[in-house]
Amino acid sequence: MNEIIKKPKKLHRPKPYLLQSEWEDGSIYTIKIQTFRDKCPCAECSGEAMPSIDGQNRFFAGLNTMKPGKYELKSLKAVGNYGVQPAWGDGHDAGLYTWDILLDIFVANNLTQEEIDELDKKSANATKN
Ligand SMILES: [Zn+2]
Repeated sequence: MNEIIKKPKKLHRPKPYLLQSEWEDGSIYTIKIQTFRDKCPCAECSGEAMPSIDGQNRFFAGLNTMKPGKYELKSLKAVGNYGVQPAWGDGHDAGLYTWDILLDIFVANNLTQEEIDELDKKSANATKN
């Protein structure tokens, strides 16, 4: 069914906390930067077993350590013609989001206009304080 790999026409940040994608079929999705980070597909974030020095597998899922800059998107680098690799404020940059992973994340977490308005309000309040 999905023989044609969909690619985003545009990927940008309308707000520091939002990531928006526009696809070739004209669909537009907006998600939180935070969601984008939480869905990082790398082995460490997605909780695949990581072999450690002592030979035991450790699972990192759910550890969810909060480091400063975790949700601060530093850069978004295109990888070949098949995906993007973000670099985060906490130094994490192992996540490679292929176009199909990216589309899945956007479709599953697309914000409604109300939710976007709500986030706008929150961030306006945050800067006031
Ligand atoms: Zn990751």
